[in-house]
Amino acid sequence: MSSWANGVVNGGVSFWYADDGLPAAREPLSGDASADVVIVGGGYTGLWTAYYLKKAAPFLRITVLEQKFCGYGASGRNGGWLYNGVAGRDRYARLHGRDAAVRLQRAMNDTVGEVIAVAEAEGVDADVHRGGVLEVATTPAQLARLRAFHEHEAAYGEKDRELYGARETAARIRVADAVGSTWTPHGARLHPVKLVKGLAAVVEALGVTVHESTPVTEIRPKHAVTPYGTVRAPYVLRCTEGFTASLKGQKRTWLPMNSSMIATEPLTGEQWAAIGWDGRETLGDMAHAYMYAQRTADGRIALGGRGVPYRFGSRTDNDGRTQEATVEALREILTRLFPSLAGVRVQHAWSGVLGVPRDWCATVTLDRATGLGWAGGYVGSGVATANLAARTLRDLVQQDSGQGGRTELTDLPWVNHKVRKWEPEPFRWLGVHGMYATYRAADRRELLNPGRGSSRLARVADRVAGRN
Ligand SMILES: Cc1cc2nc3c(=O)[nH]c(=O)nc-3n(C[C@H](O)[C@H](O)[C@H](O)COP(=O)(O)OP(=O)(O)OC[C@H]3O[C@@H](n4cnc5c(N)ncnc54)[C@H](O)[C@@H]3O)c2cc1C
Repeated sequence: MSSWANGVVNGGVSFWYADDGLPAAREPLSGDASADVVIVGGGYTGLWTAYYLKKAAPFLRITVLEQKFCGYGASGRNGGWLYNGVAGRDRYARLHGRDAAVRLQRAMNDTVGEVIAVAEAEGVDADVHRGGVLEVATTPAQLARLRAFHEHEAAYGEKDRELYGARETAARIRVADAVGSTWTPHGARLHPVKLVKGLAAVVEALGVTVHESTPVTEIRPKHAVTPYGTVRAPYVLRCTEGFTASLKGQKRTWLPMNSSMIATEPLTGEQWAAIGWDGRETLGDMAHAYMYAQRTADGRIALGGRGVPYRFGSRTDNDGRTQEATVEALREILTRLFPSLAGVRVQHAWSGVLGVPRDWCATVTLDRATGLGWAGGYVGSGVATANLAARTLRDLVQQDSGQGGRTELTDLPWVNHKVRKWEPEPFRWLGVHGMYATYRAADRRELLNPGRGSSRLARVADRVAGRN
């Protein structure tokens, strides 16, 4: 469902569906069934898992159960940054040693190429452009963080990352007040929905059963329960990310965090000439409440950031409808970065949910005692991570069923990581809103007092929220 206000299409799941419309749902489950593996959730995690398992063991009977349609969640709404970031790497370094975290980082670097290669091999055209990731600083405080970030990434073995001054940054993209940037080749821009739709078609063609309009209400060992019947399988894999709280018993597992986006109308040649951005890098900044953006294949800017971060009681979604204040805040970021676009029309606004574990660490787990598995908690970095998680789930299932042994992936430090649940309400709501209010206050302080360096407020918020 979408609505119009000030000429902006608001909701409708996301802008990425604007051209072709929402897909017609596949047939729902009709009665009890059985499978070898049942996967709950038809986003990147669920579909990649189905893909790799079926490729590894074509005889497996795999069923995907999706509450609406494949790509209804974050996989159909994201910013299209296919990049090598993974939530929790620093904590994994503290828990398992730096070498283990470096292995995780290397696996993530390779994952960018893996997604591109498989999409190409399977004939999925997702408007991929491999221009790397450019992150820009626009205040002295942001520049200090940018330099520290650059050093930090290099220490995880990223020797091909580059640091640019103001002039080199402007040669790539004219962001107002940019004082420096850092660039890594480990990233690409893509069209999220083209990828998820393509993947769903590929797994179906491989012989995976995909039921849509089929909400799973409860997951138990060997059972995925829906209003239309129960699917029994030795392995039940939960790939529900930001929607996990809607499953029985999972209310406090991963917090559903909102992220919101806008897309402009297509820019003219003249407007693009003023901005540059010929390399089509994915673009981010170093604000505490950061923004992320891409130059779309059809010549728009799609830009996202935090809106209302979290809704009381872990409520999740209303087809992407976004508060007016959030649309305005994103429009302001757009015109602050690119003042020449002050008159440009925003055509579409939407939101989606991310999954945030209590310790902000992405995980992949298979409980060998029950056959229950899950992957997610990617926070805001799941486009590539979901692929690595899916290959890891494949290896864990293969290992458990005696068809494979330990692999490089099953030895990664995020495998079988345990974390406590979120606090009950109202503490959950107060904590998250407090954290984001603090980030915004820290950004405002840095803008108003450019000489004073990085605000301590944000560090305090990080600590309180369990991010550090
Ligand atoms: C606005 C936004 C921008 C983002 N930008 C980026 C980005 O640029 N780069 C990046 O790396 N990451 C980004 N992310 C995060 C990234 O999109 C996600 O991490 C990733 O898509 C997660 O994939 P997933 O398959 O695990 O979850 P989802 O895509 O959310 O899929 C879960 C699926 O499970 C289904 N489901 C849920 N519960 C049930 C149930 N009970 N029964 C049946 N089905 C169910 C849902 O309908 C959904 O289709 C962004 C996220 C958002 C919201």
